[in-house]
Amino acid sequence: MRWSLNLGSIGGTAIRIHVTFLLFLIWLGAIYYRQGGAEAAWQGTIFIVLIFLCVLLHELGHVFAARYYGVPTRDVTLWPFGGIASMERMPEKPGQELAVALAGPAVNVVIAAALLLWLGPQLNPENLTQIENPAVSMAAKVAGANIILVLFNMIPAFPMDGGRVLRAVLAMRMGNARATELAATIGQGFAVVFGILGIFYNPMLIIIAVFIFLAASGEAAQAQLRAVAQGTLVSDAMITEFQSLGTNATVNDAADALIRTTQTEFPVVDGSGRLRGVLTRDAMIKALKERGPETPVLEVMQSDVPTVSARAKLDTALRSLMQKGRPVVGVTDAQDRLIGLLTVENLGEMMMVHSARPDMPARPWGNPRG
Ligand SMILES: [Zn+2]
Repeated sequence: MRWSLNLGSIGGTAIRIHVTFLLFLIWLGAIYYRQGGAEAAWQGTIFIVLIFLCVLLHELGHVFAARYYGVPTRDVTLWPFGGIASMERMPEKPGQELAVALAGPAVNVVIAAALLLWLGPQLNPENLTQIENPAVSMAAKVAGANIILVLFNMIPAFPMDGGRVLRAVLAMRMGNARATELAATIGQGFAVVFGILGIFYNPMLIIIAVFIFLAASGEAAQAQLRAVAQGTLVSDAMITEFQSLGTNATVNDAADALIRTTQTEFPVVDGSGRLRGVLTRDAMIKALKERGPETPVLEVMQSDVPTVSARAKLDTALRSLMQKGRPVVGVTDAQDRLIGLLTVENLGEMMMVHSARPDMPARPWGNPRG
């Protein structure tokens, strides 16, 4: 993820911190300094580090719960209002997703409860809400911050944990795609309320509202794609009419093909029909400029292109397309020959067709092949 710094890793999960989180910390440090000088700023720094640890422990709650269900997490990125753990996937069963979503806030509940017990009678409940006040005791502030973390994360909107809790609970009663759609709509409703409150009370809420609104739309689109992909074979979604390049083609040949067709990625196929690599438009133009038109395409193509069988389920192909960030996945027949391509754009087109004909059965378009 761009704009984030790597801090190391825990059990195979990289820990990253987003630049906006650092800005938030600096902002808080500056407020402390202005209110109480160096001593307060030092106190503030300790407080900030403790909050940072609480947010990290929250995310690790998700990470370890997900690992319990066999889902690894590549990295955790800390944002000002929580972290985002990029799990490879969500557990399919709603009960498991519910457990993973609740594991994060549960960590903050435990921290807050432990601190409140320890503070006992000397606690002034008002202090819990004054995390920016240097005169309040550290334990009370950390407890207060954890309560805020729980409340914020339980807002029933994506990408907050509350959104996932809501989706999981809905998914126990209806299909996953339908549950996501409904949860996203509810989340967007919350975003609108936040935005309106933000106009009157705090402009920060408007930023959060926009963030929630966009995240909800993205989540809904992804869930819809997954739902369609589960009932579809690769052969029903692939591009079958495309121009490929031979292994002896030059960048100049590729440039001609680029102009003649609407393709932006060209598979390079050897004499026996096997996929050797893919030449992207960007790589082609770069090679044309820097190395000349006679450069063999074999030297400038991407050679580690994933392939899937035409008989595979589309969601498998989708995963390798999304996870590896590749522009294209090659589709092969039983003899390992290239017979089709899958790209992000063509999946987008498939979704447009699907949503324009929502009453279609799961495998309606194209002739069943292979
Ligand atoms: Zn969380």
